[in-house]
Amino acid sequence: MAKKATRQSIKRVIVEGVLKILEFEGRLYHLDRCVTCNKEIENEVSLIKNFLPTHPNCSNLIPLNKKDIKELFISKSTINLYDEIVDILYSIVSKGF
Ligand SMILES: [Zn+2]
Repeated sequence: MAKKATRQSIKRVIVEGVLKILEFEGRLYHLDRCVTCNKEIENEVSLIKNFLPTHPNCSNLIPLNKKDIKELFISKSTINLYDEIVDILYSIVSKGF
């Protein structure tokens, strides 16, 4: 149990760290437009490398709640996110940024 909790908290630290780096470098994008088709994103967003926003249909990735991700981008804190969401975010980061 302790091991699982530790791994989960490391993932959270890494995701939060990457968000801070991307913002520092001016690479943390707004979620309003899909980088693939350039159309507006409404309620669901899928994030690709560097946490760039796409429509779930444009990237064929798991849809995330745009409001939750927007809050995350502002707060750079994963505290309100479920482990499953953190796992998805971590898997994006682990592909490189
Ligand atoms: Zn799109």
